[in-house]
Amino acid sequence: MLTDARVYAYSAVLMGSPILLKLFDDNQTLAGQVFRLIKQQENLFTVNRAASEVMAINHAAGQHPVVVSQPVFDLIACAHAVSLLPDSLFNLAIGPLVKCWKIGFQGHRVPSETELQARIALTNPHDVILDDASRSVMLARPGMEIDLGAIAKGYIADVVQAFLRQQQVSSALINLGGNVQTVGAPPEEACWAIGLKKPFGEADELIGVIGVNNRSVVTSGIYERYFELDGVCYHHILDPRSGYPLDNDLLSVTVISDRSLDGDIYTTLLYGLGVEQGIACLAEQPGIEAIFVTRDRQVICSSQRHFSFQLLDTDYRLVH
Ligand code: ADP
Ligand code: MG
Ligand code: MG
Repeated sequence: MLTDARVYAYSAVLMGSPILLKLFDDNQTLAGQVFRLIKQQENLFTVNRAASEVMAINHAAGQHPVVVSQPVFDLIACAHAVSLLPDSLFNLAIGPLVKCWKIGFQGHRVPSETELQARIALTNPHDVILDDASRSVMLARPGMEIDLGAIAKGYIADVVQAFLRQQQVSSALINLGGNVQTVGAPPEEACWAIGLKKPFGEADELIGVIGVNNRSVVTSGIYERYFELDGVCYHHILDPRSGYPLDNDLLSVTVISDRSLDGDIYTTLLYGLGVEQGIACLAEQPGIEAIFVTRDRQVICSSQRHFSFQLLDTDYRLVH
């Protein structure tokens, strides 16, 4: 991260994550507005508290449709469409599986095979029924749960970015615990310097530095939330087909894109596709670029149109 005497950094803990806002004016009022905005958005989407619009849908599973606000409907519709893409790892109805593993929460455990199979039966995205006309969402079976944990932060980072632009802010950075969204570049500089974390390293250990302006940088890593049992690492990105954490050769995927929502969607999709198929998929999406970090310490960039990358850790190898 940038260490610059002109930066004013404001922090808070929201959505269970450390939140950091960087501005170039000492503007407590604006920082307060940003944090309130994040809280207000979180209240719409959270599934970790009793009441939210998403929880209202989950409570009515198997019973009746629930009318939601336009932003919630739009985000669910987007998550639904991504869940129905061929070979998509992303599944908005993953809730029952997330809740039975409790990875990153108290009481985490390895569920039995029978339990996993029963939960998988409750995660079919085709059983999420959207009605545009009434702006309602219905979960067809009792026990189903929508979980927007993989994309809510990205959506909210974009809302914050739009708010900052509306307030005529020309240089700012918001980091929502792994989702970085930037406005412009720091004054008189070409770009923001954003650290790529070393998997399973200390908080300040970096593999390298990503340079961007006016872009979002989202990293999803298996080292972010996990637990270990009998030498096996169980992390928080679940494979809806097996019910287990997805097992492949990736430690993290970072997506550089215009919208942080796309960054969030693509980190999950690409994690599921792996390096080769992932790069082929991005060849058709010029606005979306990725940095893959593999278990054998390779760092692979899909392309490098909108960012620069400087490798710092020589244990890792940059592959083009
Ligand atoms: P982080 O919380 O570290 O930012 P991600 O953005 O990668 O992590 O999202 C992980 C969260 O997404 C999980 O904690 C869970 O709530 C949800 N999730 C896990 N597996 C899937 C999946 N296959 N599809 C959609 N959401 C998922
Ligand atoms: Mg994500
Ligand atoms: Mg995330």
